[in-house]
Amino acid sequence: MSPSSRRTDTEGIAAALRAAGLSVGVDAPFGALTTYGVGGSAALVVETAGQDDAVAVGRVISAHPGTEVCVIGNGSNTLVADSGFDGVVVRTRPPKDPAAFAVEIVDGTVSVGAWMPLPVLARRSVAAGAHGLEWAVGVPGTVGGAVRMNAGGHGAEMVDSLVTVRLVSLATGACAEASALDLALHFRGSALGPSHLVTEATFAVSPPGDHDGEADLAAIVAWRREHQPGGRNAGSVFVNPSPGQGSAGALIDAAGLRGLTVGDATVSQKHANFIQTGPVATAADVVGLMESVQDTVRERTGIVLRSEVRMVGFGAAVTARFAGESHTDPAVEAARRGLARMLGEPS
Ligand SMILES: Cc1cc2nc3c(=O)[nH]c(=O)nc-3n(C[C@H](O)[C@H](O)[C@H](O)COP(=O)(O)OP(=O)(O)OC[C@H]3O[C@@H](n4cnc5c(N)ncnc54)[C@H](O)[C@@H]3O)c2cc1C
Repeated sequence: MSPSSRRTDTEGIAAALRAAGLSVGVDAPFGALTTYGVGGSAALVVETAGQDDAVAVGRVISAHPGTEVCVIGNGSNTLVADSGFDGVVVRTRPPKDPAAFAVEIVDGTVSVGAWMPLPVLARRSVAAGAHGLEWAVGVPGTVGGAVRMNAGGHGAEMVDSLVTVRLVSLATGACAEASALDLALHFRGSALGPSHLVTEATFAVSPPGDHDGEADLAAIVAWRREHQPGGRNAGSVFVNPSPGQGSAGALIDAAGLRGLTVGDATVSQKHANFIQTGPVATAADVVGLMESVQDTVRERTGIVLRSEVRMVGFGAAVTARFAGESHTDPAVEAARRGLARMLGEPS
């Protein structure tokens, strides 16, 4: 989308964000902030380092009703359309004070900023004598992105340890503390919506007991290196279908799709549920490949694969084609209404 065709009040919002002391990019690269490294620009990209910055963004956005927002952490589960995003991207980044990286156990819990990379959380928790977050060492996202996605691996996921989060509404500027229950975390999703920015998360941890945390971390890292590709990707693309139907990766593999290529995007030879992007790949290449994989698996098995990757800036048809079912789950809908009430948003 060219700057002249944007609907967002770019200049007014940028001026207000700068007046609040925030770092703002106008018509700034967005796709480049994701691990796929494809996709266009955003009308605005603003960086936040914690609760105060997030509240400041929320106050500015609330004065510009109708402005679309999108939160991004490390972009390791996000695909941005080639046409970009006509709205404000709010990117979480670490505060400048190195002390913010400290992980301490207080009453059996650890509390960290949402900007914290999961591998750092895993390693520092183990170093502090905590057990329970080791699985996160192999997931290249931030704590905030992992809460929203209920990220997991190696037999554990966020919902197992998450106790509370601090939230800011980017629509109203209001803050709240929500329990993990309030978020309706489910397989690779939650009730958190585009206007909800997690600024801090508290996890329950246990003493290591017989566990050798450092050995567990090393084993997980070694397993990842052996089974998953490096390079540009967003991890697993498709969610596993219902129990008993096999994993998404096994279905793609059985359909003989390893190595399938559209443009400069390829189904990984190492892990069939990963899509790799090359240096000249576009978001259209990734979506075209996702469509081919989905069509082929459906023709062979009748199973319609859904994606866990967050798609930003695409039309409704593309988004709906890959969206999971959780948006129609009444429990998730009820939790969404609860969060909206908590944060003074229209429900
Ligand atoms: C090599 C590789 C391996 C991976 N392995 C795994 C795995 O084993 N298990 C797994 O679950 N995932 C895995 N992933 C996917 C991804 O790393 C996780 O989903 C991760 O939690 C996303 O975090 P992020 O900060 O990169 O999120 P982003 O991609 O930046 O955002 C993802 C979603 O979270 C939202 N979000 C981001 N930050 C916040 C915030 N502070 N507050 C509210 N919402 C926010 C975004 O709006 C978006 O909807 C893998 C990815 C890669 C590249």
